[in-house]
Amino acid sequence: MTNTEAAGTARKTGTRKSAGTAAKAAGKSEPAPATELEVRNPATGALAGTVPIDTADTVAAKVRELRAHQPAWEALGPDGRKEWLLKLQDWLVDNTDRLADVLQSETGKARVDSLIDPAFSVDLTGYYARRAAKFLADEHPSPHSPLARVKQLTTVFRPYQVVGVITPWNFPLAMPVIDVIPALAAGAAVILKPSEVTPLSAVELARGWREIGAPPVFEVVTGAGETGAAVVGNADYIQFTGSTATGRKIAAACTERMIPFSLELGGKDPAIVLADADLDRAAHGIAFGGLFNAGQVCISVERVYVEAPVYDEFLAKLTAAVREIRQGVDGRKPEFDMGALANENQAQIVQRHVEDAVKAGARITTGGKRTGVGTLFEPTVLADVDHTMSCMTEETFGPTLPVMKVADEAEAVRMANDSIYGLSASVWSGDKDRAERVARQLNAGAVNINDVFANMFSFALPMGGWGLSGTGARWGGANGVRKYCRQQAITKPLLPTQTKEPLWFPYSPAKL
Ligand code: NAD
Repeated sequence: MTNTEAAGTARKTGTRKSAGTAAKAAGKSEPAPATELEVRNPATGALAGTVPIDTADTVAAKVRELRAHQPAWEALGPDGRKEWLLKLQDWLVDNTDRLADVLQSETGKARVDSLIDPAFSVDLTGYYARRAAKFLADEHPSPHSPLARVKQLTTVFRPYQVVGVITPWNFPLAMPVIDVIPALAAGAAVILKPSEVTPLSAVELARGWREIGAPPVFEVVTGAGETGAAVVGNADYIQFTGSTATGRKIAAACTERMIPFSLELGGKDPAIVLADADLDRAAHGIAFGGLFNAGQVCISVERVYVEAPVYDEFLAKLTAAVREIRQGVDGRKPEFDMGALANENQAQIVQRHVEDAVKAGARITTGGKRTGVGTLFEPTVLADVDHTMSCMTEETFGPTLPVMKVADEAEAVRMANDSIYGLSASVWSGDKDRAERVARQLNAGAVNINDVFANMFSFALPMGGWGLSGTGARWGGANGVRKYCRQQAITKPLLPTQTKEPLWFPYSPAKL
């Protein structure tokens, strides 16, 4: 299908295929429940694949299976599990192009963007495979009381049995991998529920796990929210990445079951450009930070604050940088920088934010509309925006960069912190110490100075949002694997024991 033919053929992906036709033929009035999901390329409308819809019963059965196999997996210990994880890493390397093909077919991404997920997955798998033993090693807290002189104190990290991982559509392989791998490394079994919009890459990951012959401690279930809810109803720990609205429901369901959870949610990440910044670098960095993956990144730059003296100059440079972006859809060819939005709903949100802003007085300096091909939306810069506009307060998750003039550093900080979200941020300045002072005033889980996304690729750092951007244990470093463990305290006598301890019954003041 050419781009022109694809115009207007954008379809909602994750469409349910019901057995209703059969029901009608049999003269029944009620359509039978859907049994499959169709996955379509949002750029071309082409069918990318179908997946079954897992029901509450199939999810429960799979969790029971996983539970049965988990003890043997835990018993392998971190070094035994490392062997399997490194085999999976090899499989990811060997299958990179095919994985990128599948991912591209279900997302409509540009080729280079489609290669990010496999590359990230290879790195992260190696990182946790090699370090899990260190991160999970027993700890012996330093003596702090007389008791510690006679007891060995040990903190042990023991995995949850079955971890449920529920993921969104923006990085269909990397988002699952970022949690599935550390959870497996911890010794848990994992049930993964990928987005119904892009389930095919996750299904491939599970295929890889089977192909390397690894123990059956990783399963993928497919379907929409009901399938996710069934995972929440059966697993022992829930790691959710997705929208704040769904995160709220999951938090309530986990609380009802009294099971632990962590949520990585939406964002509205600010970039602050101070007057002493290298404006060329800031313009190119912010263009990339806001528009990489067509802006569908939780840590995308979603709003830009520029100190008044350099506002016009920065805006001109940003507009020029954004105009350089080559947008299109052409299979494996690497010449496009930006592809499609993941679904029609997403394209409509972006359009609404742009139209609302323009109605309220914003100025489009480049882009501003759909291209007419699938869900593609032009990379867009909006000038003269303010906080009365949805583009500055709601998550857009699309290729827009709204830019606001601020009087000074203090106003930039105030505006950046005026958000329900707090995922990440960036500060651009020629004075790195000044930039760090600003960074330490921002309400965000991560701040990159004169850069974007640097925290995401530094696996040793904690990564996670403040405010409505997330809660619970964070990604990254030792935490990334320990979060899937329960801590157990063990005390053991260091010296030969007597029949009774001085403090045991019967009490006697003389012994105390
Ligand atoms: P979403 O919340 O609509 O869906 C996410 C997942 O939750 C899907 O798999 C969905 O089927 C499932 N789900 C829906 N209802 C459920 C329920 N009641 N119980 C259990 N599971 C349920 O999110 P999305 O539209 O797929 O993804 C986009 C969002 O993800 C954006 O808000 C983005 O910021 C966020 N995101 C955040 C991060 C982060 O690190 N903070 C990373 C990537 C994406």
